[in-house]
Amino acid sequence: MNRTEARPPLDARPDRFKGYRGAARDLLDRMGVGVWSEVRIHTTRGDFEGLVLPRAESADDRHVVLKLATGYNIGVAVETVTAIEETGYRQAHYKIPEQAFPETPGLPRVTLFGTGGTIASRLDYRTGAVIPAFSPGELYGSVPELAEVCNLRTEKLFGVFSENMGPEQWIALAEAVGEEIRKGVDGIVIGHGTDTMHHTAAILSFMVQDSPVPIVMVGSQRSSDRPSSDAALNLIHACKTAGESDIAEVMVCMFGPTSDQYGLLHRGTRVRKMHSSYRSTFRTVSDIPLAMVDRHAITPLRPDYRRRGEREVKVDTAFDDRVTILYYYPNMKPDVIDALVAAGYKGIVIAGTGLGHVNKQVYPALERAAAAGVHVYMTVQTLWGFVQMNVYESGRDIQERGVIPAANMLPEVAYVKLGWALGHSHDREEVKRLMLTPVAGEITEREPFDGYLILQGGLPEVEEFTRKYRI
Ligand code: ASP
Repeated sequence: MNRTEARPPLDARPDRFKGYRGAARDLLDRMGVGVWSEVRIHTTRGDFEGLVLPRAESADDRHVVLKLATGYNIGVAVETVTAIEETGYRQAHYKIPEQAFPETPGLPRVTLFGTGGTIASRLDYRTGAVIPAFSPGELYGSVPELAEVCNLRTEKLFGVFSENMGPEQWIALAEAVGEEIRKGVDGIVIGHGTDTMHHTAAILSFMVQDSPVPIVMVGSQRSSDRPSSDAALNLIHACKTAGESDIAEVMVCMFGPTSDQYGLLHRGTRVRKMHSSYRSTFRTVSDIPLAMVDRHAITPLRPDYRRRGEREVKVDTAFDDRVTILYYYPNMKPDVIDALVAAGYKGIVIAGTGLGHVNKQVYPALERAAAAGVHVYMTVQTLWGFVQMNVYESGRDIQERGVIPAANMLPEVAYVKLGWALGHSHDREEVKRLMLTPVAGEITEREPFDGYLILQGGLPEVEEFTRKYRI
């Protein structure tokens, strides 16, 4: 956004009422302000300062939208407004200039693939929504520090929000990553929406094996036109990791703590988005993260990672998408499972309660699924911890009906792995062998005592919180 500019006369502002109609337009007109006016609005609910934004075409005519200094947008109801003063004028230009990325001898070569998501987004004032608008030049134009970290080549593969990623995109991405690694780059970065980043990180861990270089997924919770955006820092951390780190695994690189102290590198099969809006949304589950990263250093938190090395990357994109996750809830009826079998699903991952349970009512449907050759695996809704189906009688009963415990694989990881395994075989024993043989840390021997929140920016904050709120 530009700094305050000279204030053009009101009638020389073509966008003055952009998107505003009815009462809201009348108010702006009456108060002698318009879109891009910096204002102090006095209302019956208090005063607000901010920038008047254009409205979406489909929006109502009863609110004026203000961008506050914090980056948040608020809607001020017209009927509450008592006065508006214009304090400045600042037309926002969200188009970031395209710039060729400079080539610096000696810096590592990194390829960044764009798939979409908030990290590739800016606000679209026509609809008022965040739209994917990835362009490699724009990226460099907005984060010039990247040139100090690596020599970057960028390629847009898709421009989608991550709920639209699926097998077609996973396969194309895996192939693109494999091809680029064979060309000899020092590392890969993948810009991706955060919502399903952990699904893609997991499937890439199975589809792209033995990578000699780091494969780093990165996103942002807040778009780069917001002052609180995590896009730039995550991107710098990800490029540094791809170019310099010794960890040749599929990783997710995102904010560690809620503030911008450091990023965490999470193993692609043990990571999960855990908060809908925090920037520190990704957590390593049932394990500890691989490393911390800041602008100066990458600090491993554990020794057992795959190192960089000379080896041939293996790309194996077989995938059968007739798989699903069934999230158990009390009073589940057998017809749910029967319907999945009738619809042709070949694999079901159940996210069961506690150690891996479902109610007795569905047992006959589990038997029918097994008889129909459907592969059913059990994971836990608690996310942390192992499936333990030998502790309670019900666990044993469920296993007798053909359900296979999936150790401590996260439900989403088991889901993509089952699709990948069924892409290779439908033989029960072979699928089981593939499912239960760890490929990339998706099953661990045990959960480390400090795997639950510690070392993830969680614990110090918990301590601080309880100190502050203790009565
Ligand atoms: N809805 C977005 C996505 O996953 C959220 C984000 O990128 O953070 O594509």
